[in-house]
Amino acid sequence: MRVKDAFDLFPATLPQGDSSCSVVSEDGSSTSPTQNTERKKVQVPGREIKRLFVHCAATPNGKAFTAEDIDRWHGERDFNRKSKYKDTFNKELKHIGYHFIIYIDGSLHTGRHIQEIGAHAYMHNRDSLGICLIGTDRFTLAQWITLKAQLAALKGTYCDATIHGHHEVSNKICPGFNVPNWLASGQQIDNEHLYPPITPNIPVPLPRPKPPQP
Ligand SMILES: [Zn+2]
Repeated sequence: MRVKDAFDLFPATLPQGDSSCSVVSEDGSSTSPTQNTERKKVQVPGREIKRLFVHCAATPNGKAFTAEDIDRWHGERDFNRKSKYKDTFNKELKHIGYHFIIYIDGSLHTGRHIQEIGAHAYMHNRDSLGICLIGTDRFTLAQWITLKAQLAALKGTYCDATIHGHHEVSNKICPGFNVPNWLASGQQIDNEHLYPPITPNIPVPLPRPKPPQP
């Protein structure tokens, strides 16, 4: 199953454009903190999501790769999805560890089901979701826009979840930029991590004429 937009897939659990925070219930019952709350209640049965991890695919920047490519690579690392989910959701993906993949054109694709435990952050998979950017440390403007939108959408559902970079729980530099710093900056796009980079219009000095040959 290929989807360009996970909002089509999980319309009931990914409210948009609503700053109120959802109240997540594991058993489907109301967990409103107070009776007078204006918080919007969205019931999300299943596992509790406490953290959203941002990853990169460690592929050449600006080069198109797909969820199928990642699935193949994760298969080579012996990652395997459980039949319970694999047989009904993205059947053709048998190994992929991430839940969402953002292509270089900015399109959002699904990997594992959100209720399915991922394979993306060792020792931290049980209560998290993995979002992977195609590339290594430079991402297209479209990717940055989708990343921001998808994190906001997920926060709309899992309001208590915190956003992290894989580098925070591993010795890797994944996703190629410092996620806490990016969040602290208000999710500003740093030219250092943009593909293609914006080249400043600096006049290039003309080469000096060669001295006359003797
Ligand atoms: Zn990673």
